Amino acid sequence: MRGKLVVGNWKMNGGLRQNDVLLGDLRAGWTAPAGRQLAVCVPYPYLWQAQAALSGSAIAWGAQNVSEHTVGAFTGEVSAAMVGEFGCRYAIVGHSERRTLFGEADAAVAAKAVAVLAAGLTPIVCVGETLGEREAGATEKVVLRQLDAVIAAAGGQLPALVVAYEPVWAIGTGRTASPEQAQDVHRLLRKRLSAADARAAEMVLLYGGSVKAANAKTLFGCPDIDGGLIGGASLKADEFLAIAGA
Ligand code: PEP
Repeated sequence: MRGKLVVGNWKMNGGLRQNDVLLGDLRAGWTAPAGRQLAVCVPYPYLWQAQAALSGSAIAWGAQNVSEHTVGAFTGEVSAAMVGEFGCRYAIVGHSERRTLFGEADAAVAAKAVAVLAAGLTPIVCVGETLGEREAGATEKVVLRQLDAVIAAAGGQLPALVVAYEPVWAIGTGRTASPEQAQDVHRLLRKRLSAADARAAEMVLLYGGSVKAANAKTLFGCPDIDGGLIGGASLKADEFLAIAGA
């Protein structure tokens, strides 16, 4: 049976001293209940620090983005193999901030997911609609378009992916999707994944968007939601641990 997973996305936050405290508090506070996994995705320069602080613990770590390329003249880019050298288990790809602020198209996100798989890591592929798209009734069309690009690229490796549904209007806004809204989209995503691969029933699907300790239990209790991708609240150890324990 698929387990629960809670992943922190620090975004461009952190600093050596504050990371030490946060990682230490997470390590001390995480009791690793059966069937539950915890991970943090940190900025590249802190991957070594996450590795040093979390090695030998039950907490995994990962990157927030990788290049779709493997090696070469791509100034400023970081490959999946490189982050793998720092012990990463996960790499987020296609976060809405990457899609909207850095112009990442569906095909690039799919190529990144494949690059992460090729490096032996687990991609956490984000999909989600903007407020305008939801209000225009285009939620299904948008998330399925984003997902289909990844399904086509991943082929037989599809079950190795984690998919995170993150409505853009709920990210960092304090406005959370209702459990019904979230479950509706998760059901749709799992149906599409299942049509592509019979093993999709075992895939881990996360919800992200203003998850807090106060709403995590209801959201994670939905049948097709297996945990969360947590932004702001992952920067506070107590809150993050409370979410993971929900
Ligand atoms: C995110 O950045 O993936 C996210 C879900 O952010 P927040 O929890 O702050 O809404």
